[in-house]
Amino acid sequence: MTKLLETVDLVTNFYTYEGVVKALDKVSLSVKHGTTFGLVGESGCGKSVAVRSMMRIIQEPGKVEEGRILFYPNAGDDSQAIDLLQKSEAYMQSLRGDSISMIFQEPNAALNPIMSIGDQVSESFLFHRKKEMCKKINEDLSSANCRTIYPLKKLLQTLYRIAGKKPDAWLLKVIGRIPIFKRWNKRLRQEALRRSVEIIEKLGIPHAAEIVKRYPHNLSGGMKQRIVIAIALACNPVLLIADEATSNLDVTIQAQILELLRELKQKEISSVLLITHDLGVVAETCDRVAVMYAGNLCEVADVKDIFRSPKHPYTQALLNSVPKLSQEGELQSIEGSVPNLVTPPSGCRFHPRCKQIMDICRREFPKLVEVGTDHFVACYLWTDQPRD
Ligand code: SF4
Repeated sequence: MTKLLETVDLVTNFYTYEGVVKALDKVSLSVKHGTTFGLVGESGCGKSVAVRSMMRIIQEPGKVEEGRILFYPNAGDDSQAIDLLQKSEAYMQSLRGDSISMIFQEPNAALNPIMSIGDQVSESFLFHRKKEMCKKINEDLSSANCRTIYPLKKLLQTLYRIAGKKPDAWLLKVIGRIPIFKRWNKRLRQEALRRSVEIIEKLGIPHAAEIVKRYPHNLSGGMKQRIVIAIALACNPVLLIADEATSNLDVTIQAQILELLRELKQKEISSVLLITHDLGVVAETCDRVAVMYAGNLCEVADVKDIFRSPKHPYTQALLNSVPKLSQEGELQSIEGSVPNLVTPPSGCRFHPRCKQIMDICRREFPKLVEVGTDHFVACYLWTDQPRD
């Protein structure tokens, strides 16, 4: 399998009044074409910061300081890597929602309460597929007058580009009022709405033609999350990033959404990057898993290896803290708490909570090393470094 999105030694910091929060420290991940990759860890370990850094949507006072984010758009051709950190914001805008889409945890925050569902799904098509839709309308229109609109608009845009200016708002307003242009825009919106109904139907939502007329407050939580997924899938992304997409849903809806993601992964999208703290979700859906702790990667392996033979003490403790039906006695927990990342522990960031700590763990930062086939661990119990 070939690479799709890769981070190399990614460092992200937040500059706060209390000091610099070292949220990501040299994180290297690789999501392959055709796989579901899970990123797990406790709340605040840096999972969301990692994916937001990859999408370049980290906001002030955060900053991606070092590293590379490589996107490989062509499966099987690793030489065509695009370093996203070197690209302009305009390029990133064209990529987000098109080749790479993201679903957020809270559908209420992702949807605009004063826009109809149809308008919100249509926005994706109008932003990323306008040219394609214009061509289609141009071919469909029987009126010769209408067929001239698209070239006319292109001519106008070209003239402005040559003049090095953006079209004046007042001019666009005046043009928008000319009946022939009005008709054109109406057709464009109708085409976007038709595509929106199509994608909503594809996600198994009944009465899609009715749903597009409704507003977010008219829908249930599960339905809203499906609409958010529809927006994310509108332009057939190669990678879908789901950031705790099922955390706020009750278990039955959660199961439906996970099943939907699994189906989509088989039919519609190449790869999924799943951010979660739920190990059950990981076991059910992922092919490969990375475990994060306090801004560092602890362990990266295939899902079976992580569950059958976890190597890092933190991964072992995480798995032991999951309740089991056969378990008797008290539920095990990880003693201590997540460190303050303004002053993270020296050496291995897990050392204050680790039961197998050695002297070297306090001094030196353990690097990820391969300890089995495609199984990487950052722990001195598994490296050749001398133990104290
Ligand atoms: Fe524990 Fe040391 Fe391994 Fe860190 S490096 S997990 S402190 S044994």
